Amino acid sequence: MRILVTGGAGFIGSHYVRTLLDGGYEGYEDAHVTVLDILTYAGNRDSLPADHPRLDFVRGDIGDLSLLMELLPGHDAVVHFAAESHVDRSLEAAADFVRTNVLGTQNLLEACLRTGVPRVVHISTDEVYGSITEGSWTEDWPLLPNTPYAASKAAAEMIARAYWRTHGLNLSVTRCSNNYGPYQHPEKLIPLFVTNLLEGRPVPLYGDGRNVREWLHVDDHCRAIQLVLTRGRAGEVYNIGGGNEQTNIEITERLLDLCDADASLIRWVADRKGHDLRYSIDETKIRQELGYAPRTPFDRGLAETVAWYRDHPDWWKAAKDTEDGTG
Ligand code: NAD
Repeated sequence: MRILVTGGAGFIGSHYVRTLLDGGYEGYEDAHVTVLDILTYAGNRDSLPADHPRLDFVRGDIGDLSLLMELLPGHDAVVHFAAESHVDRSLEAAADFVRTNVLGTQNLLEACLRTGVPRVVHISTDEVYGSITEGSWTEDWPLLPNTPYAASKAAAEMIARAYWRTHGLNLSVTRCSNNYGPYQHPEKLIPLFVTNLLEGRPVPLYGDGRNVREWLHVDDHCRAIQLVLTRGRAGEVYNIGGGNEQTNIEITERLLDLCDADASLIRWVADRKGHDLRYSIDETKIRQELGYAPRTPFDRGLAETVAWYRDHPDWWKAAKDTEDGTG
């Protein structure tokens, strides 16, 4: 079994790869993994083992067709994480998002088709739905993306659907809510706040702090992806959530507490343009069809995440020195 993972040096991709290499997915204990990652500011080679007998690391671009045509033959599956992923950056540099998320995805799928890759999972996001005031999105909800990031992910999904429908590529799509956990770049809300607080610095909170996100531990997300890879149906979309909705101010208060800090470190900043108020996913389909259930309680997962950042300053300090993002 050979799996190619795009974006495997990023936050979620690297968790998926480390779990695969640790034998964490039943039936895949011997799987050989090729990571294809261009190592943008968000990718970190140190998030993966330096040397592992079942890992090949290739630094390259999903937009490079000839590289893909060389790499893909012999692979049994592709799990596609690679993306520009930070909403704030998409407000300033939308072209990068279209290039990687839309054109890069099309290029990857074209190469999968030409080389006969038997199975593809495309990782998308709940942000393609837009914002919801009440209730939760099911998979057949209309896509109403509000930011260039979300629009590029929605466009990528449409390309993916077309490669399934037109060409019969064996492909499924996942739409997950906000992830948290170790190895997340310190530009994103939770690691930004934790690392600021660990350094005794203030945390920037958008608007009135009442935006609601549904938080899921990265390990639960990756287990869901593995279920979709092995048992998901072609042409289908699977929502992945966790039911754990929190306002940004609630998250901030928990983090202040876990970092032994107080509310005097909160700095209110002007709201993000086009800031979605609430995300909420209905994940009945993946629970009923594939038997998925998240298993990391938020309190424990968050405490362990804070402890990980406390214990790994070398991992995040280099990235943070070049960042002043607000998550
Ligand atoms: P990330 O930004 O941490 O990692 C992205 C990785 O992709 C990086 O390692 C980067 O170097 C690589 N990459 C970027 N452009 C590339 C290119 N052209 N060719 C090859 N590699 C390239 O992102 P993440 O948070 O791990 O997200 C992974 C996927 O999951 C993304 O598709 C994202 O849209 C989706 N997602 C993320 C979340 C979340 O909360 N983080 C939630 C739902 C869905």
